[in-house]
Amino acid sequence: MDKAASILIIEDEPQIRVAVRDALREVADRIGEAATGAEGLHAAASERPELVVLDLGLPDSAGVDVCRELRRLLTSPIIVLSARHSEDEKVLLLNAGADDYVTKPFSVLELAARARAQLRRARSSAAAPSPVTLHGLTIEPATRRVDRDGRQIHLTPIEWQILHTLVTAGGRTLTHQQIFDAVWSRQFGSPQQYLRVHITNLRRKIESDPASPRIVITEPGVGYRADVVR
Ligand code: CA
Repeated sequence: MDKAASILIIEDEPQIRVAVRDALREVADRIGEAATGAEGLHAAASERPELVVLDLGLPDSAGVDVCRELRRLLTSPIIVLSARHSEDEKVLLLNAGADDYVTKPFSVLELAARARAQLRRARSSAAAPSPVTLHGLTIEPATRRVDRDGRQIHLTPIEWQILHTLVTAGGRTLTHQQIFDAVWSRQFGSPQQYLRVHITNLRRKIESDPASPRIVITEPGVGYRADVVR
């Protein structure tokens, strides 16, 4: 894969900035650094990095707020560095626009692999939508046609929207709220309950064994993802 033109690291601790920089040396030509949330947002706006690594523990602002602001400025992937790793925090971060999270202390190899995966995904989703095949299921975004073994499957518009939203996310986990917002234009009821009903119907149509789904995967307490190869 071609190196990214630039990556931005937002982290107040100098030793960790050095560790992240070392980890990502082979991934990007230029690595920018910021020590506060304010500096980070400023750098993101002026440098337009292809990827941001954001530490959640910053001296001047809550990491999740910086994440939300970054998402307003950029479509580039955001990888969060976090000391904790609770489901609630994952949901909060994904809703704030983060693409992935790495728990401290992190392995240099793991961080580099995650960064490459995010860059690959960002580049492929920028390209024209092409048919996707998942466990025998073919999904054609242009025509909205779904086939299994050459036989067309008829989905309701909502089932199509859910499947398309998950597949377009390229294997990334989306929270119940994110899927809900993408599929329904107005807010009503509980996203989790509402989704469960439609996901059950969708799986009955597209999975070869709906009781042990392989295409639409549940992330307990968080949301769902499509089993797209990263
Ligand atoms: Ca920190």
